[in-house]
Amino acid sequence: APKDADAPIKIQSYRFEDLTAVQRKELLKRPALRTEQVMDICRPILRAVKTGGDAALLELTEKFDKAKLSTPVRHPPFVDDAVMAKIKPEVKVAIDIAYNNIHKFHKAQKTTFGNKKAASTGANGVVEAIEGEEDGVLEVETMPGVVCRRFARPIESVGLYVPGGSAVLPSTALMLGVPAQVARCPTVVLATPPRPDGSISPEVLYCAEKVGATAILCAGGAQAVAAMAYGTETCPKVDKIVGPGNQFVTAAKMLVQNETDAIVSIDMPAGPSEVLVVADEEADPAFVASDLLSQAEHGPDSQVVLVGIALSDAQLEAIEAEVDKQARALPRVDVVRQAIDKSVTLIVPTREAAIEWSNAYAPEHLILQTANPEELVKSVTNAGSVFVGQWSPESCGDYMSGTNHSLPTAAYAKSYSGVNVGTFEKCITSQSLTREGLKGFGQNVVDLAMCEGLQAHAMAVKIRLDRLQEGVSA
Ligand code: NAD
Repeated sequence: APKDADAPIKIQSYRFEDLTAVQRKELLKRPALRTEQVMDICRPILRAVKTGGDAALLELTEKFDKAKLSTPVRHPPFVDDAVMAKIKPEVKVAIDIAYNNIHKFHKAQKTTFGNKKAASTGANGVVEAIEGEEDGVLEVETMPGVVCRRFARPIESVGLYVPGGSAVLPSTALMLGVPAQVARCPTVVLATPPRPDGSISPEVLYCAEKVGATAILCAGGAQAVAAMAYGTETCPKVDKIVGPGNQFVTAAKMLVQNETDAIVSIDMPAGPSEVLVVADEEADPAFVASDLLSQAEHGPDSQVVLVGIALSDAQLEAIEAEVDKQARALPRVDVVRQAIDKSVTLIVPTREAAIEWSNAYAPEHLILQTANPEELVKSVTNAGSVFVGQWSPESCGDYMSGTNHSLPTAAYAKSYSGVNVGTFEKCITSQSLTREGLKGFGQNVVDLAMCEGLQAHAMAVKIRLDRLQEGVSA
């Protein structure tokens, strides 16, 4: 309505000192989601695919995505000259650079399992890429003759959900596909909803090809999650489902992970995207506003938070004027308006108070537009990804720099990491004891086992200690 269009696009602002403890707690909350309702919509969809397989999947794809397909799964190669001709040259270049940077940063993560080799760096200080079976082996001799190891193995079959309902998201295909490729997962199913004509965007196909996906599942929403969790005639069953999506995708992931006959895990419960920007008096109001809006355009449920460090009224008004001006020029201004309605500006007295608030909020994205931003990073305890200084807008991390953009939302950054190579691996431990190792602490094991009343445990050691004793007396 024209009246709405005239209303100022303004974030509600508060001063920290004016708030009661209860009000502060309220401001840390995210906008409520209708999780139970959405789960009730998803349950019958999951059941339909579980029992009906491909036929049910195709029916649901026709219902929700208006696409009539003869089969839901495509196999490589996903691109040919005709597909490549549909990708703008500058977009292909951008995808190639993004792929290289994401690959570089995630390949270096292969070394973070703490082994000796991993700690070594090449001549120019660059961490050496480590190839082969022995990636990330951690080995410790805890007592003489007792060697404990930890080693990573790829998850054998993974499903990557690339949203496709309202936008084309090749960047998400890269963010999920590259770490799976670096982890060397043998089966990688990339699921994405088809367009009404049954096609998949050429940019997503190109990314699927680059990351070495082994199949594309042309389906979206809860039905795609079900097909990957249970498997169908044509879709491989996966061991883990990773990736963002709307509330139906998220609810379906949460439901299947609790099902004992699916045996599938998920990366994290994902909610609407969010950003917290910390700005001080020196921050450029136009930069601050653009960062807030780049998140607000994600969806009506997105929340943006501005934490101003002792901002003057003039600086706050300058930022608010920029938000209003820039928002009006955006094609997604209606989405932005809804997100801004759920958003908050909080003026705090000090840098310490700003980071304390941010840590309590645990934002998916944290942007620091302050003096000495690197200094502030040291105090960050909860955040998905941090953007340090005024020349590091979130958009660079969303696409190009190399960090992952699939990150924990809704304060889950308190306990979850964003998608990384470890998301696609699991760690196995092993131990090798020599005779001396067993003799060294065998009696201690027996004593603890007896303390816990587990005689068979004690026996498994005693029988060996006795054998070693016989060996000595023989
Ligand atoms: P989507 O692929 O997540 O969902 C499309 C599917 O939703 C459809 O195939 C359909 O099956 C299902 N669906 C739609 N309406 C339904 C209904 N009424 N009942 C049952 N199922 C229904 O695409 P989207 O909807 O465009 O959502 C994309 C989401 O992904 C957004 O919320 C966006 O914020 C999020 N996203 C997040 C990140 C991130 O890194 N955090 C990145 C990209 C996208």
